[in-house]
Amino acid sequence: MQKLLQMKTGRDDIININIYNNVIIIDKNARVLSHNTSVLKLFGVLESVEQKNVLVLNRTKEFENAVALALEGRHNEKIITVGERVCNLYLNPVFDDEKIAGAIIVVTDVTEKEKREHLRREFSANVSHELKTPLTSISGIAEIIKSGIVETKDVPEFAGKIHKEASRLITLVEDIIKVSQLDEADTTVEKERVNLYELSGEVLEQLEPVAKLNAIRLSLMGEDIAIVGVKSIIREMIFNLCDNAIKYNKPEGEVIVKVKLDENKRSYIEVKDTGIGIASDQQDRIFERFYRVDKSHSKEIGGTGLGLSIVKHGAILHGADIIVDSKLEYGTRIRVTF
Ligand code: ADP
Repeated sequence: MQKLLQMKTGRDDIININIYNNVIIIDKNARVLSHNTSVLKLFGVLESVEQKNVLVLNRTKEFENAVALALEGRHNEKIITVGERVCNLYLNPVFDDEKIAGAIIVVTDVTEKEKREHLRREFSANVSHELKTPLTSISGIAEIIKSGIVETKDVPEFAGKIHKEASRLITLVEDIIKVSQLDEADTTVEKERVNLYELSGEVLEQLEPVAKLNAIRLSLMGEDIAIVGVKSIIREMIFNLCDNAIKYNKPEGEVIVKVKLDENKRSYIEVKDTGIGIASDQQDRIFERFYRVDKSHSKEIGGTGLGLSIVKHGAILHGADIIVDSKLEYGTRIRVTF
C-alpha cells in the first residue's frame, strides 16, 4: 500500500487521504492489492478480497463503470447503494511513469447525510405546496374583486375569505420557522430550570378562550415538577399537545393535563382528551411533517400538520420519550417522559 501511495497520482490531495478511511487499492487489472478491514464491513463481505477482482465487493453497473473509468486514467466520483447503505466513491488513477498502475478508491458511508438531504428536499416540496394553496385562493378572490363583478354588499364576505387565508399563511410560516429552528438546534442550546406544572398552567390559561368556544373543560393535575430544558421549546410542545386535545375533541368534551413522576422517577407530562381519537395504523404517522389524518378537517380547524412534528423534535432534543394511547371515538392520551 505504502509503495502505491507514494506513486504519482496526478492529484496531490489523494496523497493526503487518511488511510484509516475506507480505502481500496487496485492494480491495473482491477485486482485488489490492499484494503482496510472496514471496507469489508461496509460492503458486507466476510473475508479478505486481496488479490481478487474488486468487483466482488459490489456487482452494480455503477461500480463497474467507475472502476473502468479510473483504470482508463480518469478521476471520478460516484454514489452507489450497498444493500441498505449509500456510499460515495472517490476513485483516482495511479500512474507509474505515465502509465496506469492501478487506482485508489476511497469509500465514504453517506447514508445518514443522504437521508437528511432527502428529508430536506421533501420538506421544501411540502412547504411550497402548502404555501401555494392559500396564496392561490387569495389571488383568485382579489382578482374577482378587481374585475368589479362583486357587489358592494358582498365585499366583506370576500375580504373575510382573504383574511382567513392570510391568517392561515401566517400560522403556516410561523410553524415552518419553528420546525426549521428545531432542525438547527443542537444539544448545546442553552437549557434552564423549567417548571412543567407552572408552564402547563400558563398554556391552559392561554387556550381557555378557544376551549370555551366549544364548551370544553380544561383541568390540570399533578405536582410541581421542574426539569432542565429549553423553556420556549417545552412550552411549544405542551401548547401543541393541548391545542390538539381541544381541536380534535367533541363539544362539551374534556382535556386533562397531568404532570407527575413515573415509577422510575422520571418526570412526565400527559395530555388526555375525550375527542375523536386516532386509529392505531395512523398513530406513528401523525408525527411526520405535514401529516394529517383528515386533511380537510385539520385545515378547517386551522391545523398545519406540523404541531406534532415540533413535539417530536422537541422530545428528541430533550432525550424524552413519547407514548400515544388512543382509541377512535373515545379519545387520546399522549405522554412525554423527560
Ligand atoms: P395539525 O396542525 O393538523 O393538528 P399535528 O401535527 O398537530 O397537525 O397533528 C397531526 C394529525 O394528528 C392531526 O391532523 C390529527 O389528524 C391528528 N391528531 C393530533 N392530535 C390529535 C388528538 N388529540 N386527537 C385526535 N387526532 C389528533
